[in-house]
Formats: sequence, structure tokens, C-alpha cells
Amino acid sequence: MTPYEIIRRKRDNETLSQKEIFYFIDEFMHGEIKDYQMSAFLMAVFYQGLNEEETLLLTEAYLRSGKTIDLDHLTAKKIDKHSTGGVGDKVSIVLAPLAASLGVLVPMISGRGLGHTGGTLDKLESIPGFKVTGSIHRFKKQMENIGVAMYGQSEFLVPADRKIYALRDVTATVDSIPLITASIMSKKLAAGIDGLVLDVKVGNGSFIPKLTRAEQLARSLIRVGQAFGKRVTTYLTSMDQPLGCKIGNWLEIEECLDCLNGEGPRDLVELTVELTSEMMILADLEKDPSEAKKKCYRALKDGSAMEKFLELVKFQGGNVDTLLHPEKMTPARYTKKLTAAKDGFISHIDTYRLGMGSVYLGAGRSHAGSKVDPQAGLILYKKIGDPVKRGEVILELRNNKQAALQEAEVQLKNVFKIQPTKVPIPRMIRKRLDQI
Ligand code: URA
Repeated sequence: MTPYEIIRRKRDNETLSQKEIFYFIDEFMHGEIKDYQMSAFLMAVFYQGLNEEETLLLTEAYLRSGKTIDLDHLTAKKIDKHSTGGVGDKVSIVLAPLAASLGVLVPMISGRGLGHTGGTLDKLESIPGFKVTGSIHRFKKQMENIGVAMYGQSEFLVPADRKIYALRDVTATVDSIPLITASIMSKKLAAGIDGLVLDVKVGNGSFIPKLTRAEQLARSLIRVGQAFGKRVTTYLTSMDQPLGCKIGNWLEIEECLDCLNGEGPRDLVELTVELTSEMMILADLEKDPSEAKKKCYRALKDGSAMEKFLELVKFQGGNVDTLLHPEKMTPARYTKKLTAAKDGFISHIDTYRLGMGSVYLGAGRSHAGSKVDPQAGLILYKKIGDPVKRGEVILELRNNKQAALQEAEVQLKNVFKIQPTKVPIPRMIRKRLDQI
């Protein structure tokens, strides 16, 4: 068995064995297989795909690269949530403390920005001091003490996903159903969960824009979850425009604070509540979805979700004062406002380009390991269906590097389409699947 032969076999659409898949991932983790060989392998998988058995084996290979957290001593159900990636998708940061404030145990393992999409870890790290890694012992202590933890992949937790995720981010190999499945499910399975709620994004800002392929992804995720004996519920939701109005790491934390203070943009709050109520049902804390939703809205309004968020931030070393007084954060040095070219209604938003624009501004990475600018990002003043007047501000760009701001300004011209007649707002929840 050689790396060359395995890459060639996948390139030629042959089926890989367990031995080959485990060997390839193990040797990569030991440094015997190099980044350039892994990149070639990922591109072969991108083009040829993996069958169900190979996808399951790849997930297992990722999972066995690290440790699995055993939380069996905690009697309440452990339920996590994950999104396949979107623009302005900050749901997890509101949902995790909200669900925990309602009695769900939430051992969450998240990712960094990937391609044009932002990552929960980068957003959390924009809170000064916040740490997304730590020992398994500390993770368990945190779960025992406050019932929620938000960590990233590390040298102990799915290190294979950590390394491969960073390579996929810069080699255009993200939008592959088996690679997304193995990446998401290995992280989730490593954290000792009983059940999982998945938000599969559909639309022009998602990795898998078409509903039929997004459904294939949902089924692939459910299949792997079921093979490991987990309850998995999947929602297919719209990413035809960003979620909420802010894109970028600290900007998104600000919007999460609005939600946790009982306000926040309607689409973001509604989706967060929908997914959290599903977690309560999987955790056997509620049977009736509308009762579960009422409890979620109450916890957002009465401050209990916010209180849990502050506990979480404190436990993970973050500076709580910056959350209580966000106005104290140093703002981005440069800003630029773009205006509407004519009167009408916003009919279309190129969400992918907005995501790429935020990456150019510095909110994402251009090569593996580069630093992100916590303050960089975009503010949308209009969303689909909104009326707009010529000259009105529709988009604001922010960052700390003027040249990148100018570049992004060029990229972001015309991401909004305006038409003279009224336009319906895209439906957020497209489908719900809980078995295959
Ligand atoms: N989220 C992940 O964790 N991995 C992917 O590949 C895509 C979204």
C-alpha cells in the first residue's frame, strides 16, 4: 500500500478498503503523508465521491485519530447542533447557552471559517481571552459545572478533522458531500452525544446550493449518525441571504448579544428557537414543539440564556466585561458604505460573494493558519423583500487594512439586485428529515 496508489485508485473512481482509508488518515497524522498528497486525495474525493461504506469509514478514521469524550456519568441527554455552513450563520452561539439554560446538556465541538463561510470558533475567539481548546478533563469539568462547552478540534479531539479542515479551506475541496459528512459527524461523535440537530443550508450562500443535493447531504449525515446509534434530526434551511444583518467575527458576536438580550433580527431568532426546541425534544425535555418554543422565547427574554452565555464565556477564559459593554471594543479602522443605485425592492442577494467579500476584508483566511481580523466584516442594511430608495445605504464594509477594503468594495458592487415590484421573503425552513 502506498499513498500514490491510494490517490490513483480514488482518482480512477475505485472503491477504497477500510485498510486503505485508515492507513491514509493515520499516516497523514504521523506526518508520513504530506499536505500535497492529502490535497490530491481530497481533490480526488471531491471529483469521484465516496460510497456510503467509504464515507462511514472516513468518519471512523477521523474519529480514531483522537479521543472520545465519555459523558455517560451525566444523566441528562447530551444533544449537539451543527450547521453545514453559511454566511452570517451565528445560530450556535445563541443556541448552545439557550438550550443549556433549559436543561439540555450541550457538548459542542465546532469549526473555524471554511471557504466563504464563517466559523463558530473564530467568532468566539473575537471575545478577548476566549479559549476554544483545553484538556478533555477540563471539557468534562465544564460540562459537569455549567452543562455547556464550545470547543474546537484539537490534538486530542478529532485532530484529523482539524488538519484536513484547514487544508480543505484553502484547496477548494469543501463542497463535497462525503468530506462534509466525515468532518461534521466525527466532531459530533467525539463529544459523547446522544442526539444531534443538523442545519443543512440550501441556497446561493451554502456549499451545496441545490435542494436535491442538500437532501443527499442530509441523508448522508443521518446515515452515519444512525450507524453510530445516535438520534439525528435534520433541517434544510434557506441560505439565499445571510442570516441576520451582520457578517464577521466580532460583528456576529454583537448580533448574538442582541438575541440573548431578547432582541435581534427575526430570521436569526426564529431559526435559533426552531433548532433549540428540536434539541429539547431530542433530550426528552418536551414533547410539544410549540411548548418548547415558548420556553425558548421566555429564556431569551428573561435573561436566563444570557446568564448561561456569560457563565460559558467566563469558564472558557473570555472577558465578560466586553460582552456587557460591547461599546468598549476598539472599532475597525476603516469603513465604507455602499448605496442603492435605484428605487425598488431587494429581489436577490449574492450571498456567496458577500461571504467571499468578508474573507477579503480579513474575516476569513487566504492560507492555512493565517490570522483573522476580529473587527472585519459587513453590515447589511437591507434584506430580500425590503423597499429601498436610490442613494440609501445598503451595505457597510469594515476592516483594518485599507487595500483589502478597496479590493472588497470592487468585489461587492452589485451583490444586491433591485426590482421595481414587491418580492416575497424566502421561506426559512424548507424541509425536516429525521430518518432515511
Ligand atoms: N462544517 C464542518 O464542520 N465541516 C464541513 O466540512 C462543513 C461544515
